[in-house]
Amino acid sequence: MIQIKNVSKYYNKKAAVHHVSFGVEEGEILVLLGTSGSGKTTTLRMINRLIDADSGTITIENKDILNQPPEALRRTMGYVLQGYGLFPHYTVAENIAIVPKLLKWSKSKIQLRVDELLIKLQLPPDQYKDAYPANLSGGQKQRVGLARALAADPPILLMDEPFGALDPLTRTAVRKEFKELDELKKKTIILVTHDVQEAFELGNKIGLMDKGELLQLATPSDLLFNPKNEFVQNFFEHQRLQLEWQSVDLKTIWHDLPTATDAVTTHLFSRQSLWEAMEVLVNKNSPITALDKETGTFKQITFSHLQSAIQKQKQQV
Ligand code: ADP
Ligand code: MG
Repeated sequence: MIQIKNVSKYYNKKAAVHHVSFGVEEGEILVLLGTSGSGKTTTLRMINRLIDADSGTITIENKDILNQPPEALRRTMGYVLQGYGLFPHYTVAENIAIVPKLLKWSKSKIQLRVDELLIKLQLPPDQYKDAYPANLSGGQKQRVGLARALAADPPILLMDEPFGALDPLTRTAVRKEFKELDELKKKTIILVTHDVQEAFELGNKIGLMDKGELLQLATPSDLLFNPKNEFVQNFFEHQRLQLEWQSVDLKTIWHDLPTATDAVTTHLFSRQSLWEAMEVLVNKNSPITALDKETGTFKQITFSHLQSAIQKQKQQV
């Protein structure tokens, strides 16, 4: 759906983004991951033409973004800014209504949409509609920023460190809500973060950036088990164990697991990760059972099975 081809951007002759190419499929969440200054924000800003690339092309649905007015382009994509980017003198409702107003929606349609989003994001309208950003917690501001980006239901969502300003606990909770939000299910999303854990939790694919270059774009498990070079390998080294266990699901090792004969209780589903299985195992301290909904089969899970599954992943590459 979105194609970036050989895009570069220079500031004072220094490359902020250097020959970057990647594609995002419809309905996919692509995460751009990298340390501060690696070129993530610049890449995002070029996609909605807050800045224009110096070279290369960006197309959306095969149309060059330079061939359409920036305003028309931006209507197709919501943008969640780094920080919260809320207007302090606008109420919550006014902040969310910005794009619908530009689109000249009727007052009643705007009101309905604002209420709907606030309810979905667990901010009761009566309580929050007329509040000002200064009176909200970080997590609440983050939700209003998201509601604003979603207001006109754009097919594409660009998110720049959307959870970056939250404390770690709120961050984990908000991320979980984010994954379950029905408004996001069909959207094509490019999300920028410096947080490895976040990238692995949310991304269908992850693009690792460094010094303006895209080093590798791959699925989370490919980045771990099939790194393209030493930099990619080293980047994940200090969290490798947890990431590996999170990136492989039970379905991957389904054939190697023993069938559970007396499956009375289901503890897990096959789409859950080895990490989640381990958490349940640790708490139960006895063999546990998993169900594959597609085939209706039950398997028994023990710690040693999980361990051998990881070994197998490593040998496959
Ligand atoms: P990230 O979002 O990954 O932290 P950025 O895309 O913001 O990185 O920045 C990439 C590089 O480009 C950095 O070295 C930054 O200093 C530089 N840069 C970004 N915007 C500008 C600008 N407007 N003027 C000069 N340099 C910039
Ligand atoms: Mg940035």
